[in-house]
Amino acid sequence: MKHFFSLSLVILLFNSCAFEMKTDELFIHPISHGSLIIEYGEEMIYVDPVGDLEDFIDYKKPTIILITDIHGDHLNLETLERISDSMIPLVIPRAVNERLNGKVKGERIVMNNGETKSINNMEIEAIPMYNLREEALKFHEKGRGNGYVINRNDSRIYISGDTEDIPEMRALKNIDIAFVCMNLPWTMTVEKAADAVLEFKPQQVFPYHYRGTDGLSDVETFKSIINTENETIKVNLLDWYKE
Ligand code: ZN
Repeated sequence: MKHFFSLSLVILLFNSCAFEMKTDELFIHPISHGSLIIEYGEEMIYVDPVGDLEDFIDYKKPTIILITDIHGDHLNLETLERISDSMIPLVIPRAVNERLNGKVKGERIVMNNGETKSINNMEIEAIPMYNLREEALKFHEKGRGNGYVINRNDSRIYISGDTEDIPEMRALKNIDIAFVCMNLPWTMTVEKAADAVLEFKPQQVFPYHYRGTDGLSDVETFKSIINTENETIKVNLLDWYKE
């Protein structure tokens, strides 16, 4: 096995999830929908922080912020102005950089799909995210947004951003933890998401970003499709929609 961390779920507190990794503990804190915090050793990785400052007040300040795309559920200038400071690397697609104003501090690190950069003690890869269905192409054009793979201490964490079951997702290798979106009309069905996950076989998967125009997607069905086919992939259902 290439994977070094124990897969046991250590605790489940306040809806957060903890794992014992090779060298550090890793905590997953779902904030809401597409916003989350990954606490990994000394790193506080904020992904698409949007919404009230109150949602972030219980956590340590970010050591890095990753933004996937320009839409309001991923990029909110007011939230960013408040939580970023000049010391914090902001990893962003070019289209996001064009929308940031002068009040958003931080070291802007613009990444294009396919690029990899070393930031803090991590290697960050920018993964494409886009729609495939004809009627959905307008939502996320290829090349604008970034999904990300975070490499740290021999582990790989994938954040899909808003995407369908694109070949670049299906081709991912050695992913320990994956966050995969599933909502209509903007991303994909739970069936498509499950099919892609069964192909790239992360050790753990978290459905996230699953509120669509018809309410919440059926993540239980996602879990059962996965585990009917492959019971070694652990599907973690957290509460991403608290109110
Ligand atoms: Zn979104």
